[in-house]
Amino acid sequence: METAFSQLGLIDPLAFAVQEMGYVEPTPIQKQAIPIVLQGGDVIGSAQTGTGKTAAFALPIIQRLGGHGALRCLILEPTRELALQVEDAFQKYAKFTDLRVTIIYGGVGYGKQIDDLRRGVDIVAATPGRLLDHLEQGNCALDQVEILVLDEVDRMLDMGFLPDVRKIVQKCPKARQTLFFTATLPPEIEQLAGWALRDPVRVEIGRQRSPAETVSHAFYPVVATQKFELLQLLLEQTEFKSVLIFCRTRMGADRIAHRLQAKGHTVGVLHSDRSQRERIEALEGFKSGRFEVLVATDIAARGLDIAGVTHVINYDVPENPEDYVHRIGRTGRAQHTGDAFTLVTEEDVRDARSIERYMGLAVERKKIEGFPYVYSALFDEKALAEATPPKSTSRLHRGVRR
Ligand code: ADP
Ligand code: MG
Repeated sequence: METAFSQLGLIDPLAFAVQEMGYVEPTPIQKQAIPIVLQGGDVIGSAQTGTGKTAAFALPIIQRLGGHGALRCLILEPTRELALQVEDAFQKYAKFTDLRVTIIYGGVGYGKQIDDLRRGVDIVAATPGRLLDHLEQGNCALDQVEILVLDEVDRMLDMGFLPDVRKIVQKCPKARQTLFFTATLPPEIEQLAGWALRDPVRVEIGRQRSPAETVSHAFYPVVATQKFELLQLLLEQTEFKSVLIFCRTRMGADRIAHRLQAKGHTVGVLHSDRSQRERIEALEGFKSGRFEVLVATDIAARGLDIAGVTHVINYDVPENPEDYVHRIGRTGRAQHTGDAFTLVTEEDVRDARSIERYMGLAVERKKIEGFPYVYSALFDEKALAEATPPKSTSRLHRGVRR
């Protein structure tokens, strides 16, 4: 078969699989990374959100593994939802091979996972905590792993995950291929993770640390007491199909969800205090259109590929500037367009500025005509900036749970 994908060196079973998924042209990260991963070297790949990074590593991995054997490929993901999504992508890309793919993640029973591991799998997508449980119980071993992927690698190496990730990496053979992928690559990645890599090749697409061009985004200054009112007006004024609303805390997410429900919206809620069944229900309900609104914490900020999210609203400014790029990247995926609104109160001015510094661009401030704004110093940001020194954004001082 002669397609744009086979020209990258991919064999027919893979070219067929992507054709079935409707892919015609490889994306830029796929064009560049696939031939390098096929050769077996380590890669640090970065490209904006929604530009097909999963296939950029999955397709050449499947080709390298060839046919069914032992557990030879491990992909680590920061959330259960993302592990599910990546496992599903591998299943589809590997459809015309006899490779076996499974998922290891927390919040569900051990039975099926143990059965799958016993029966023999080639590719495992996992969240670190549950994988370590299985390793400790002797349900699986990583001594045959040939390819290790850290997806959302900057998140996997931050304080919350690093100890677990280190333990897992140590259980993999030293002679292996290691692949890092993310939309937000810290410049110091090699210092941070040199211990996991061997002569990595960097593949970088697009302006680093910036949102996809398909997302238009703006800040909406407002006093804290008017946030919900402004949110409601934003929802009224936009013709959204599905809107993802981010809150900083789990309690905050519950509160906003209840208030929106009381106003007649259909709302799903996704955060780490909910059971795995509730998390899946919320996400599936949002994907299917049963919920027009999904209220979430940063657990949903990264990687989730939800078709048709027309709007992202940051009810709260994210704590870490890179999460802004990830959050708004939940819309405008795969060349669709999207809008992102961020409510900024007086307390958020510093964080809002760190976001702009991080991306290296100024974000437009917008006011909504006809909204009964209560005046605050917020609307005179220069004066406010002088009163608030910039905050340190060291990546080593982060919370664990989101
Ligand atoms: P990223 O990891 O870069 O955020 P994903 O791998 O989740 O992006 O892919 C985003 C979406 O783009 C998915 O729905 C995926 O199926 C789709 N996609 C990936 N590659 C292609 C392609 N070559 N052509 C069309 N759609 C693609
Ligand atoms: Mg991804």
